[in-house]
Amino acid sequence: MTHADFDAVSVHEPAGPALPLVCDSPHSGERYPGDFGAAASLAQLRQGEDTHVDALWSAAPGLGATLIAANFPRVYIDPNRTLRDLDPELLAEPWPEALDPGEKTRLGKGLIWRRMDKATPIYDRKLTLAEVRHRIEAYYEPYHAALSRAIQQVTQRFGAVWHLNLHSMPNDAYERLGRESEHPLADFVLGDRDGQTCEPEFIALIEAALRDKGYTVARNDPYKGVQLIAQIGQPALNRHSLQVEIRRPLYMDEATRERNAGFEPLRADLSDVLAQVAAYVRVRQAALA
Ligand SMILES: [Zn+2]
Repeated sequence: MTHADFDAVSVHEPAGPALPLVCDSPHSGERYPGDFGAAASLAQLRQGEDTHVDALWSAAPGLGATLIAANFPRVYIDPNRTLRDLDPELLAEPWPEALDPGEKTRLGKGLIWRRMDKATPIYDRKLTLAEVRHRIEAYYEPYHAALSRAIQQVTQRFGAVWHLNLHSMPNDAYERLGRESEHPLADFVLGDRDGQTCEPEFIALIEAALRDKGYTVARNDPYKGVQLIAQIGQPALNRHSLQVEIRRPLYMDEATRERNAGFEPLRADLSDVLAQVAAYVRVRQAALA
């Protein structure tokens, strides 16, 4: 077992009576491990962060939810990918187990990112199997263990779970994805993998709460949700999982990663949305009990 340079994951338990509500922020980590060995600059690497997303949703524990956040950066290793989603081009030697790299991995954004964009490779070297294993054992696996534990605990206790998988997105998301769009990027993109990962009432509630606050909201365009909600969201088993993407200029300067004047108003709005989610979960849970 290898050790991380710092706590890989922060778990904020419910401050009062617990609800079957779990929130996780896999990409807001800002601590860069000493063995990263990247050629790209810190400013370039930070473009991959969902900076401050955990802070935007900081009301969650006070409302009875568990809030889990990664402290390491997603470009180092991404908790929202499967372990088979590893890019063989990164490696100095062949990986000993079967791999199944997906489309994002071919673009350089798999389990371990290879490049920020076409012009910006992250490394000027290949990674050894030992350093990839260290990233998995010391960072990726502790994150998944903490999230699984929280999901299991509430599912055992309440017979159900509602899960919010929290992210933010660059203002030029369509360009980065190489997609044309007839409309501008929405303020919020809710992803349920085209209706597969949660009950329709759950996504409808959050969409309505955000629209009430004056935000534009899209569903599954351009992000549908990736590994975490696919794994956790099983509505037939009373496991409801939804991805929430926030357009970054609403709350931060994308170049400096500093919070802007929009941060506090957005956090206040999200705290109110979370209170509505908590009320919904309380009613749904009572109906199941
Ligand atoms: Zn993200």
